[in-house]
Amino acid sequence: MTVRRPLIAANWKMNGDRELVTMMAATLQCIDSSHEILICPPVIFLSDFPKSTQYRLGAQNVSSEKAGAFTGEISADMIRAAGAEYVILGHSERRCLFAETDATVLQKAQQALRVGITPIICFGETLSERQQEKTMWVLAQHLDAVYAAQPDLLAESVIAYEPVWAIGTGLTATPEQAQQVHSFIRQHLARINADAAAKVRILYGGSVNADNWPTLFSQPDIDGALVGGASLKPAEFAAICQMAKE
Ligand code: PEP
Repeated sequence: MTVRRPLIAANWKMNGDRELVTMMAATLQCIDSSHEILICPPVIFLSDFPKSTQYRLGAQNVSSEKAGAFTGEISADMIRAAGAEYVILGHSERRCLFAETDATVLQKAQQALRVGITPIICFGETLSERQQEKTMWVLAQHLDAVYAAQPDLLAESVIAYEPVWAIGTGLTATPEQAQQVHSFIRQHLARINADAAAKVRILYGGSVNADNWPTLFSQPDIDGALVGGASLKPAEFAAICQMAKE
């Protein structure tokens, strides 16, 4: 059986301040967890986190370009220098609000890999796609646009299944719904590379909190969480990080 080390990732979005950095770092310093723990704050706060073996740092976005006249952009080299080891790509807020496509995600993933940063690539269906029973079809299109286009990315990235209707809404996929999609993603990707598909970590994201996480995490293909709102509360995020996989 393939063992996948769970990854619990915090996506602060455009929230937080230096006080939260201090509180989160101090809280995580004291916990006992065998999972990999990742904090993705706004990039301006990356270098404020004390170095620690208890957590890693990541960014929420990166430029698709290497360097040059791209006002307002931040390159992969820059986020790496600020301490990022991961970058979240293709989050539904980036896709919906900033018109990011799978092609953009692929370019950004290439920039990240160039400097040794692991992309966490997000995919998910909208409410109307789910209601029309198009969830698997939609996911297959997105997965193919990224992983069939660049098969070696599968062994070098993390996937986050984030149903768009569950992000920041308080609605969560049931453990059965989430497991069904995670298992579909793994099986679909096995057609590209069975070994890499068995090893790739697939995180669940969408209104995860300390109450609903144990049953989601108990599902066999759920390898961790991408946590938004609850990751702004150090005690609750620490509780999620400490929950064992049953
Ligand atoms: C997210 O931003 O990736 C997310 C899942 O947010 P929330 O947990 O608030 O739904």
